[in-house]
Amino acid sequence: MSKKLFIKTWGCQMNVYDSARMADVLAPLGYRPVDEPDGADMVILNTCHIREKASEKVFSELGRLRQLKDVKAEVGDGRMIVAVAGCVAQAEGEEIVARAPFVDMVFGPQTYHTLPEMVAKASRKAGSVLNTDFPVESKFDFLPDESASQGVSAFLAVQEGCDKFCTFCVVPYTRGAEFSRPGAQILAEARRLVAGGTREINLLGQNVNAWHGEGLDGTTWGLGRLVRELADIDGLERIRYTTSHPRDMEDDLIRAHAEVPQLMPYLHLPVQAGSDRVLAAMNRKHTADDYRRIVERLRAAKPDLALSGDFIVGFPGESDADFAATLRLVTDVGYAQAYSFKYSARPGTPAALEHAQLPEDVKDARLAALQQLLNAQQQAFNESFVGRTVPVLFDRVGKRAGQLLGKSPYLQSVHADANERLLGRIVEVRVDAAHPNSLAGSVATGEYRSSATGTQTVEATV
Ligand code: SAM
Ligand code: SF4
Repeated sequence: MSKKLFIKTWGCQMNVYDSARMADVLAPLGYRPVDEPDGADMVILNTCHIREKASEKVFSELGRLRQLKDVKAEVGDGRMIVAVAGCVAQAEGEEIVARAPFVDMVFGPQTYHTLPEMVAKASRKAGSVLNTDFPVESKFDFLPDESASQGVSAFLAVQEGCDKFCTFCVVPYTRGAEFSRPGAQILAEARRLVAGGTREINLLGQNVNAWHGEGLDGTTWGLGRLVRELADIDGLERIRYTTSHPRDMEDDLIRAHAEVPQLMPYLHLPVQAGSDRVLAAMNRKHTADDYRRIVERLRAAKPDLALSGDFIVGFPGESDADFAATLRLVTDVGYAQAYSFKYSARPGTPAALEHAQLPEDVKDARLAALQQLLNAQQQAFNESFVGRTVPVLFDRVGKRAGQLLGKSPYLQSVHADANERLLGRIVEVRVDAAHPNSLAGSVATGEYRSSATGTQTVEATV
């Protein structure tokens, strides 16, 4: 009999990928995803620990779930298994078990391939099953094939974990050491995704460009080589990768941007700060000028490359002059889009122990100033497209009837009135208006373009 599974996901794209894979692992046990936790047989909170308030959010969600669990039991509808997964589970597993004993399973990001055993244990006994090991085996070797279709644009995890230990970051502690999946496994997953209707693959990793996996020829490949192999898959129209570290931006990957048409002209390359003093305190092991030079090389290879980044303001000890250096770097580089955060002291990380923590109002003011500059750059970038025609991969229906949503090569969201038959296709769209976070357009011609198969005509596009 089919059982209802509700998964709530916080945080990064890797967590979105992990949630989909958890559903795949649970499918043979009869669990089918549902959109609401009410009445579910299993609820998994897949959590993120990267910034503060994460665990408070989890505990307040657990309070709500406890009531739903009680109601389900009272009406005689069986037991709701409540689970906490992801990085909060990894970092605060024991506290969760102590504070919320009605939680049945608590498990870290590297253990979800063992979900069937955990479910069996949780069904047998009262109390929580806690599993926050870093197993010697790779979970990827034990995951089942993904369920039928992962959509037009799908995630594919190629790398996990991090050995870089930036002083502000919990990832090396919650996700564990850097690990690269073998090329053959990745290519097989990519082929299955494409056979299931995927046209764009987003390669994922905490440090995706640190990927150095076993190649098909037994030698170690870098990400550039992997991208070239993926580009040979018939029907795979677009390739993206995220998130990259400046130190791992190898020449071959930069060349791939020039040489592989399927590799999209967009790169998320976090720099965090523009002051060398702060970068050193963060243990980034690159300077602001190193970053500028990498950007120059990338733009020499791919002049239209759209850049995105991550920034942290208010790192311990950051002075006005340090912050001014961040604004200068942003002005010099010019971002199409970016994410910016206030520094958040994370328990167990070296920067959290620094005495020179900055007051919230200073962090607030700096964040506002940085976001004003980044938003202006993003708006200008989007406006530069008005009147131009861009190839859009339509990947979902819009909120309004008759509207489709998709992405430009530069990862801008584009909406246009279009026939649903164009879902999953790359269509030329003329941009009519630019908004801060999206473009509005109209389907330009009766043609759609495919980098793999050339131009083909469809009779009616809208
Ligand atoms: N590996 C990527 C890199 O090195 O840039 C980033 C991965 S991290 C999951 C995503 C972003 O969260 C970071 O780039 C950083 O800007 C932000 N972040 C991480 N720890 C943070 C903290 N303690 N406070 C504020 N932002 C943080
Ligand atoms: Fe965290 Fe990225 Fe630094 Fe690794 S490289 S510690 S994931 S910010």
